[in-house]
Amino acid sequence: MPGKIHLVGAGPGAADLLTLRAASLLRKAEVVLHDDLAPAEVLELCPASAQIINVGKRCGDKSRSQQQINALMVWYARETGAQTIVRLKSGDPAVFGRLGEEIDALRRAGIEFEIVPGVTAASAAAASAGITLTDRNAASSLMVITAHNIRGEKLKASGFDPQRTSFAVYMPGPDYEKTARELQEAGVDGNTPCVLVSHAGRKSEQRCFMTLHDLAFCRGAVAPAILIVGKVARRTAESGEELDGMLVPVIASLNEKPGVSVEVSLQS
Ligand code: SAH
Repeated sequence: MPGKIHLVGAGPGAADLLTLRAASLLRKAEVVLHDDLAPAEVLELCPASAQIINVGKRCGDKSRSQQQINALMVWYARETGAQTIVRLKSGDPAVFGRLGEEIDALRRAGIEFEIVPGVTAASAAAASAGITLTDRNAASSLMVITAHNIRGEKLKASGFDPQRTSFAVYMPGPDYEKTARELQEAGVDGNTPCVLVSHAGRKSEQRCFMTLHDLAFCRGAVAPAILIVGKVARRTAESGEELDGMLVPVIASLNEKPGVSVEVSLQS
């Protein structure tokens, strides 16, 4: 009997942000096919007998195509006798995870699969920055977008009220000047607050609060990083009161412009 493929969200990187369902599948997995962003802390849950294969394409290395990854899943399910095969993807598998191509391939091959959701980077980043993504006063919509797409097109952000929308920008770098420019061209004001969160949800997380205008000067943010843009990312309450009491500014190497504050996690 062919095995079943479990398309599992690994969350942002901390083992305690996995779902219980994901952890239980990893503990009994016979084969795990994972992306580059899958953290060691999560892979440690797999039994010693499990075959663990990195199928990631680090930084544009095209050595393994999506078709080859699809073929590998089908091969493991059909030919090896393995019954529990985990395809582990960072965050939530349905968000910028090429999930559509993988489920199409599995459907075509007649392989049974299930999708296990995970905590996506936008949620982890908002939690890390101590902000909300929607707000009944300030942000009635949340737009999930990427600065990188297969056709090299400009960042797509349209049909929204820029004053009342939060943007979660996946893969926002390394050209932050371009990301900042394209958001402004799409109608977002340069003074809109934003926060760039690296390694959200991990002990090594870093947050950099600034305006969209300042983002253009951002250099060397540690990947993976996600950008949240909108009133929700402001550091002051509408009254002007400072809201940063709970976070301690530690380093300012990302950007020395005044008004930009960089913080590292207090957990480490
Ligand atoms: N499926 C994933 C996204 C994969 S695309 C999810 O739901 O989160 C890869 C991009 O996700 C990275 O370039 C980065 O923008 C973002 N990302 C993933 N993990 C992250 C993390 N721990 N902290 C910040 N950004 C992260």
